Amino acid sequence: MKKHNYSAGPCILPQEVFEEASKSILNFNDSGLSILEISHRSKDFVAVMEEARALVLELLNLEGKGYQALFLQGGASLEFLRVPYNLMKTNGKAAYLDTGTWASGAIKEAKAFGETLIVASSKEANYNYIPKEYSIPTDADYFHCTSNNTIFGTQLKSFPTTSIPVVCDMSSDIFSRTIDFSKFDLIYAGAQKNMGPAGTTLVVVKEEILGKTGRTIPNILNYEQHIAKESMYNTPAVFAVYTSLLTLKWLKKLGGINAIEKINEAKANLLYTEIDRNPLFKGTVVKEDRSTMNATFLLENQEHQELFDSMWKKTGISGINGHRSVGGYRASMYNALPLESVQVLVDVMKELEKNS
Ligand SMILES: *Cc1c(COP(=O)(O)O)cnc(C)c1O
Repeated sequence: MKKHNYSAGPCILPQEVFEEASKSILNFNDSGLSILEISHRSKDFVAVMEEARALVLELLNLEGKGYQALFLQGGASLEFLRVPYNLMKTNGKAAYLDTGTWASGAIKEAKAFGETLIVASSKEANYNYIPKEYSIPTDADYFHCTSNNTIFGTQLKSFPTTSIPVVCDMSSDIFSRTIDFSKFDLIYAGAQKNMGPAGTTLVVVKEEILGKTGRTIPNILNYEQHIAKESMYNTPAVFAVYTSLLTLKWLKKLGGINAIEKINEAKANLLYTEIDRNPLFKGTVVKEDRSTMNATFLLENQEHQELFDSMWKKTGISGINGHRSVGGYRASMYNALPLESVQVLVDVMKELEKNS
């Protein structure tokens, strides 16, 4: 039986994507070759890469606006390093918003390069809210934020306006909600949270911000090199890019980000309404900052844990244990998780209330 997969990442993908991807493992495009054995320079794969890069810009409404989409490797974690390498000037500085584990990870890497200013942090409250009162120094080379905090379950509902380039780690909510993506100069996202399997990282960058650091950048870390080589500087993650393309096509067919946003809101509403209504549960973060992707919640009374855990496991729910730094539960409701799966979880929560 297919599980109700709430995993925070790698995550659930649409069933039809799994089916299509598995067919191409045996015979890709009727070529008599597996997607796992074709050359990345083959016509068929070059077409996949081109279509994927174009579709990213189309779905984000960034076509013809000076952006390039790249499928790189090394995870979002490598972008923590690649961003300062490409954007922080020698003797320059950068400004970061610290909203959780991943934001702190990005800050650590930037600090190795130069002056890194933390404009605000919610660390003192175990990151249970998004700081909103802060100013961004206009003499910084860029401002970096994390749109959705996968581990803590908070999400930025609005983004600051500033005259300096804005960089955003959107690993866990890209393609999930409508945003004016042209407000950002560089967006990156590990594929495995909302777009595809692990193994590739999407980078969307406005070309005009590159090439200004005064630093010699090793090719593999240089966005300009990757753009010049059309995301084929080194062998790309063929299967991960292909499967990401299938997911993006699924999203387009569904009606794009506008359509999935409504579904995601319905899922989040359903679960948060139950968390707030059910006296056995409580949410862990400030309500206005709650993530539509990762809902974090606790049992009011630990005595219910054993029963609750056995109940949800029986229904085929998988992957709702919270991250060790928060405890409790985390329900990740990425694009491909159906509303019915959320209903199953809510029903278990109601059932627990009845039984205790
Ligand atoms: C998972 C995650 C990362 C780390 O991604 P890797 O691909 O494992 O390097 C970074 N940022 C956010 C917001 C994440 O959710």
